[in-house]
Amino acid sequence: MNYVATIGLEVHVQLKTRSKMFCASPVEFGAEPNTHTCPVCLGLPGALPVMNQEALRMTVVTGLMLGCDIAPVSKFDRKNYFYPDMPKNYQISQYDMPLCTNGSVPLHDLAYPKDAQKNIVTHDKEVHLVRIHLEEDVAKSFHFENSTGIDFNRAGTPLMEIVTQPEINSPEEAFAFLSALKQILIYGAVSDADMEKGQLRCDCNVSLRPEDQTELGAKIEIKNLNSVSGVRRALAYEIRRQTSILERGEQMEQETRGWDDTAGETFLMRIKEFAHDYRYFPDPDLVPVKTDALVAEVRERVPELPKAKRERFVAQYQVSPYDAAVLANDLELATYFEAAAKGAKKPKHIANWILNDLQNALSAAGKAINECAIPPEALDELVNLIDSGKISSKQGKEVFAEMFATGRTAAAIVQEKGIEQLSDVSAIEGLCDEVIMVNPKPVADFRAGNVASLNFLKGQVIKLSKGKANPQIVGQILEEKLKA
Ligand code: MN
Repeated sequence: MNYVATIGLEVHVQLKTRSKMFCASPVEFGAEPNTHTCPVCLGLPGALPVMNQEALRMTVVTGLMLGCDIAPVSKFDRKNYFYPDMPKNYQISQYDMPLCTNGSVPLHDLAYPKDAQKNIVTHDKEVHLVRIHLEEDVAKSFHFENSTGIDFNRAGTPLMEIVTQPEINSPEEAFAFLSALKQILIYGAVSDADMEKGQLRCDCNVSLRPEDQTELGAKIEIKNLNSVSGVRRALAYEIRRQTSILERGEQMEQETRGWDDTAGETFLMRIKEFAHDYRYFPDPDLVPVKTDALVAEVRERVPELPKAKRERFVAQYQVSPYDAAVLANDLELATYFEAAAKGAKKPKHIANWILNDLQNALSAAGKAINECAIPPEALDELVNLIDSGKISSKQGKEVFAEMFATGRTAAAIVQEKGIEQLSDVSAIEGLCDEVIMVNPKPVADFRAGNVASLNFLKGQVIKLSKGKANPQIVGQILEEKLKA
């Protein structure tokens, strides 16, 4: 029996605003615990929330990037429950009037895990969204040996909750969804989406049903996954576990599970007997938001999306679709490429240098593109020196290594090392004449039909030029002279 997995994701994304959602306390990861707090985010009696307009803008930017419908009027509600890391005993969230509904995240091949890119089931799949709403993050608990400490720095950080339709069908697709979403959030400058810093957290629900059955199986939720690869592994584990239960003919029950990353397995947290009743009601301290002016203003801020950038790179710079995808996969790399390629005669050559030599050098040095010593225009200069025959491509590699290490320009290095390639025709003609004169035997051999002798003579000319003569020009001139 084959089983079909149905997966939905709920992603929480911290927005990178300077201050919190409803107060002026700063948002900063890794600060000394409980130093970024105030009466509002500590939930002290009588403190009043004030909406962070930038967080509203960023959520609308995200909604527009993902093709969502933006609600003309949106409001905030109180979600009531008790948890030690939530000082007010309710979370300000959105219930029936979220800022964004619908929309989708387009997947692309490079968003899949590397080892799964050859086995993509549906290319260019789009995962549709149910909604995006805005809420506040809770504080963070730290468990020590005999006590627990709470850091309220995180409490009140603006948080977008992005909910997908249950239309993801494999752990690899879930991985691709998160990578593609992360990329769009970075393009939009709304979040750094760094899972290690908890800026993007994910809950998954997964159910299994026999292939010939239309009704969905029992929904199993896996809570609080904090890495993209963790999501993939947890889902793969869960699908294996549920398959073996169904194969034994047992019933699945709806339940909530956790993920033990070290053990590589999910574990039971609770069985859901009843749906939670959070007693949502509109927050009386916050007025509903009319979004028309905000949407008009924000439309100008919607950046080019990864998909559009990939297509434009192919059309504008004649790079292959694959190279365009690799370049656009990293916004900083794409920006670097574009700065170098803008005025370039052969942008494709720039792309080759970036994707091969530059990326290899960066990874060997353990550096990111924004730490690269070679400014983009300087790379264009190097490529021009090679393309115009001033230096050979072998010399180009040498110059490149020096540029990468020192940040000096190609022209300065070429001049200092005296490695400029000799392309002057009359100078090369002189060298050829000399070589022909002192090598009568190979010359006679060539004229008698031994084509290989030409290579010997070519080598002699290049040697005579101390390696500087342009081999292509040497070959042409020699041949002309010997045939004459
Ligand atoms: Mn939430």
